[in-house]
Amino acid sequence: MNTTQKREKPVILAVDDEPTVLSAVARDLRREYGQQYRVLRADSGESALETVRELKLRNAPVALFLVDQRMPGLSGVEFLAKAIEIFPDAKRVLLTAYADTQAAIDAINEVALNHYLMKPWDPPDEHLYPVLTDLLDDWQASFAPPFEGIRIVGHQLSAQSHQIKDFLSRNLVPYQWLDVEIDEEASRLLELSGSDGSRLPLVLFPDGPALVQPTNVQLAEKIGLRMHPGLPFYDLVIVGAGPSGLAAAVYGASEGLSTLLVEGEAPGGQAGTSSRIENYLGFPSGLSGGDLSRRAVAQASRFGAEILTPLEATGIRAQDPYRFVTLTDGTEVSCHALLIATGVSYRKLDVPGVGRLTGAGVYYGAAITEALACRDKDVFVVGSGNSAGQAAIYLSRYASSVTMLVRGRSLAPTMSHYLVSQIESHEKITVSPHTTVDEVMGDASLEEITITDTTTGDSRNIPAFALFIFIGARPHTDWVVDVVERDSAGFILTGPSLLRGDRRPKGWYLNRDPFLLETSIPGIFAAGDVRHRSVKRVASAVGEGSMVVQFVHQYLSRVPE
Ligand SMILES: Cc1cc2nc3c(=O)[nH]c(=O)nc-3n(C[C@H](O)[C@H](O)[C@H](O)COP(=O)(O)OP(=O)(O)OC[C@H]3O[C@@H](n4cnc5c(N)ncnc54)[C@H](O)[C@@H]3O)c2cc1C
Repeated sequence: MNTTQKREKPVILAVDDEPTVLSAVARDLRREYGQQYRVLRADSGESALETVRELKLRNAPVALFLVDQRMPGLSGVEFLAKAIEIFPDAKRVLLTAYADTQAAIDAINEVALNHYLMKPWDPPDEHLYPVLTDLLDDWQASFAPPFEGIRIVGHQLSAQSHQIKDFLSRNLVPYQWLDVEIDEEASRLLELSGSDGSRLPLVLFPDGPALVQPTNVQLAEKIGLRMHPGLPFYDLVIVGAGPSGLAAAVYGASEGLSTLLVEGEAPGGQAGTSSRIENYLGFPSGLSGGDLSRRAVAQASRFGAEILTPLEATGIRAQDPYRFVTLTDGTEVSCHALLIATGVSYRKLDVPGVGRLTGAGVYYGAAITEALACRDKDVFVVGSGNSAGQAAIYLSRYASSVTMLVRGRSLAPTMSHYLVSQIESHEKITVSPHTTVDEVMGDASLEEITITDTTTGDSRNIPAFALFIFIGARPHTDWVVDVVERDSAGFILTGPSLLRGDRRPKGWYLNRDPFLLETSIPGIFAAGDVRHRSVKRVASAVGEGSMVVQFVHQYLSRVPE
């Protein structure tokens, strides 16, 4: 789907069972209105109704129905009665023969008919266009263009709804969210699509059939994300499109390396989920993570880097002089140099109820996607790092109160000073120190949490609409276990940290030490948060991603062809 497509023209629908009349009316309509309107035709009331339903599901606007009264099956007036329930603002004109005059007059009341025209209407300049132009001008004057993107119909507090919204927003695809519990339009769309609402979410596209409970891969195919490598071999394959992987792709591709970037979820990584990064050089008033990733993706693509998403790397192997990456779909891509830039994700909060309610009121790092749904609600944030602080500030724009549940004495030891100051002076945010979350409860979605004051041991249950968890990091390195050396927490060792005194890592066969960002296998590099003792910041991830390309060049200059 092209998400930047031109606004769709409003529709004029002509309906007549006589083929010659239908062709003539469609021809006349196109001649006069074809520039501004899409003229569609149907040869019966029933098929016209089918078209009307499809148009509604695609959110295409209808300006005018021009309908013959005398048709077998549904008559013109009967069709209009049903069609205006779906498009109440469309103008209605009936084509009549002399004998149908009374039906037309009755229809003025029945379906608020705007006009009836006698057949034949020749010459159209005199009998057709003046009337229709007047009606269409009227319609245009009160027409508010509909949202022209993807629409999601579902339950607000459902893990699958959350997954779809999160995937689309992280891939920077605009969508409209329709909650079946509060939105009348949502119920109407379900009825039109023939769904009884038992299998939600339903995702509607402006240019094709709807999908029920789609996976990320199905959505990716539909919105045109690239999921298959164009080449069997690359100079450089980068796994992970966070700030470090994106920076490496920009430098690699701009310096002439054939470069492939493979991303498991959406470009931007953790930074892409940040509402405002305030300490990145060159952006004095901050920038959102979404903006940073959008710019980086455009830059990397402009230099010719190929980006595959959502596609996970599941394994690597080395067979000199090649390095191989296996992807989720079973494909293997080969390269000379490989960069692991898979970053970290939040540790799971291991207390009863969290597994079941994740996505239904309990979220890991999803402050941006779910903030709107928290309007006027009481929400909680677990954690005391910068990401928790940013989330609390962002959520406070919508929620009536945000409580930060902090295990330690205060935020100061773990959060940047500028964020601590903003939180302390914020009237909607409260910090609850010495507090742990022990259980989360709710039937279909989160309703209550149990918290404990660790100084007194007192526990209590409090109502909670949402709980956002930001507690520490776990590196994404399960897929490279037993191939490259890692520390005890799973972070990848590189350069000097691989040396034991003068001894190089086991199996190292080159007559030099590993480069600063090189792993225990020559030609396999690691950058950003995934690296042992890395600085967990956007700027340092970008710095390492840029720097690693220099080492790749040095490595490639010695690789036999
Ligand atoms: C909410 C939030 C706010 C933050 N705010 C700031 C801030 O204001 N300033 C600051 O300096 N830092 C901030 N940080 C930290 C900063 O975002 C990280 O340090 C930075 O994103 C690390 O970049 P990275 O490229 O190393 O890894 P990541 O950003 O973690 O990216 C790794 C990418 O690899 C992908 N991946 C993982 N495994 C696989 C696989 N097997 N196959 C394919 N792809 C895979 C992931 O999906 C991810 O997209 C914030 C972090 C968070 C979460």
